[in-house]
Amino acid sequence: MPRYEVTIEKDACDGVFACLTRDPRFVEDEDGLATIDPGADPVYDCEGELTETAERVVATFDDDRIDEARRAATACPTDAIVVDEVDE
Ligand code: SF4
Repeated sequence: MPRYEVTIEKDACDGVFACLTRDPRFVEDEDGLATIDPGADPVYDCEGELTETAERVVATFDDDRIDEARRAATACPTDAIVVDEVDE
């Protein structure tokens, strides 16, 4: 299974939340912007590592759901989401 990183650039995010409807791991944070909560998916028990700084949120996953993350990235009108496969 691919290991992949999902990054949200906070400066680019404007809170439209098109991402949430494509991938339930995206959630709204207390500032009204998108963040990632690996445990937020109501259907799948999903595990991931999350790193958050002032500039960006980076989540690393090791599962078969990269296409969902890519759909969220494609739906984002401001291109705030980047999905990258990473090597082991
Ligand atoms: S779709 Fe893009 S701009 Fe909208 S909340 Fe999600 S990351 Fe932010």
